[in-house]
Amino acid sequence: MTVLVTGGAGYIGSHMVWELLDHGEEVVVLDRLSTGFDWAVPEAAELVVGDIGDQKLVEQTMKRRGVDAVIHFAGSIIVPESVSDPLGYYLNNTVKSRALIESAVRCGVKHFIFSSTAAVYGSPEKIPVTEENPLVPESPYGTSKLMTELMLRDTAAAHDFAYTALRYFNVSGADPKKRTGQSTKGATHLIKVACETATGKRPHMEVFGEDYPTRDGTCVRDYIHVSDLVNAHYLALERLRKGRGSLVANCGYGRGYSVLEVIDTVKRVSGKNFAVAKSGRRPGDAVAIVASAERCFAELGWKPAHDDLEEIVTHALNWENLLARRNRL
Ligand code: UDP
Repeated sequence: MTVLVTGGAGYIGSHMVWELLDHGEEVVVLDRLSTGFDWAVPEAAELVVGDIGDQKLVEQTMKRRGVDAVIHFAGSIIVPESVSDPLGYYLNNTVKSRALIESAVRCGVKHFIFSSTAAVYGSPEKIPVTEENPLVPESPYGTSKLMTELMLRDTAAAHDFAYTALRYFNVSGADPKKRTGQSTKGATHLIKVACETATGKRPHMEVFGEDYPTRDGTCVRDYIHVSDLVNAHYLALERLRKGRGSLVANCGYGRGYSVLEVIDTVKRVSGKNFAVAKSGRRPGDAVAIVASAERCFAELGWKPAHDDLEEIVTHALNWENLLARRNRL
């Protein structure tokens, strides 16, 4: 039995590959290396360079390696980019996911885990957000992910096929053993940006909006350690293999931090008092998004091991320092 990880050369995907290898799984990665890096794929996993929409390649790989489960991370993830290029997002995230799901069905792959997002909820009125919250994405990115969830739902109803869609909140941090981390160029996520500023890669950073109705005026998010997130996927894989059926679940910790709290933590942990400029609101930002993770706890038996903002930041900074040293060589 082999697990096919699409996007396994990227940030979350490469952590997933390590998680699977740590559990003794056989792994094949499919990645076209548009944003990921071949060096991020551990040697113990096979890397197939190609597109998830290339059904010939995907099906050959599934058959050749005896794939029993797909964990699907490959996709485009930048919200503003999805607004300016909606059709590109529907192609990458929806049309190609459709092709991948079809390949799985054709090859008899019965287990499918999908990387979904809290963006399917848009700006939730109630916090914490449960899976029953209305699904009203506010960007083509969120819609493209929701459409894939719906395709999976209907495919599971029609075929011998079960899926888990995990709706991620704010994924951050890096492998505690420093084997991989977030290497994406031009990343826009808060903890990554703050760590790049702390290590001198950026001269300063900006806070987008300080007039929100929150405790300090900045937006609140549920930051979750990437290692806990991939562990939830591993538990989801075990659950699918036991035949427990399809599941949609939030992946967050159920608590939120403001932008200023995150920046203070990065300053404290790094010991660097870097420059932070005030900036206007970023279009499309929701005031506060915090998960209700009850379903993830109950259905997967998930026990987060890194629910600590200082730890998340420490691991993110460790990786940033490692990248900086590598680039200097
Ligand atoms: N943010 C910020 N400065 C940055 C990057 C992000 O103030 O350089 C804010 C952003 O406006 C949002 C929060 O940090 O309120 C989290 O943003 P991020 O892009 O990390 O994740 P999102 O919740 O948008 O997916």
